[in-house]
Amino acid sequence: MCNATATNLLLDSGWYYQACPRCSKKVAGDSDDLWCTKCETKVVMPVARFLVRFEVEDHNTDTAIFVALDSEVQKLVRQTAAELIVGSEENAKELVQTGFSQLLNQAMDYQVTINSFNMKQKSPTSFTVTRMYLRDLNTVKIEGKSPIDECPPNKKARVDQSDANEDRPTEE
Ligand SMILES: [Zn+2]
Repeated sequence: MCNATATNLLLDSGWYYQACPRCSKKVAGDSDDLWCTKCETKVVMPVARFLVRFEVEDHNTDTAIFVALDSEVQKLVRQTAAELIVGSEENAKELVQTGFSQLLNQAMDYQVTINSFNMKQKSPTSFTVTRMYLRDLNTVKIEGKSPIDECPPNKKARVDQSDANEDRPTEE
């Protein structure tokens, strides 16, 4: 878990991807011949899923890129990526922007992870957000539990695992 402030939404690099309907992995290939390398199968009907990158800053003004995936973005935008791609690109970006405006420029708790997906990103300081704790918003149900209790015991692993981030502070 880390407390950080989202400062900038990075929509120019895209905000969704075409995913395998079975495993949600990004499909490979061109539109006539899509393939899921995980399921090792041809994908006839990919589904659009959100993938939104945004810059965050922590208390020491270190910056990192967070990647919000489908379920978290849906909570903010309140629509699916599939619904958004039906309309114009401009309109879709605006809706994503509006959704994210709820969390921009305020300190929030994020649960983040490093996985193989991150490692393929160009920037080594890119983390996938597994959960955002929007406590003041009614978009996220906390279900009677303190969000702190839900943190896995290995929550600090994100710092320890990455050589590129050795100068990042560990959490108190
Ligand atoms: Zn698949």
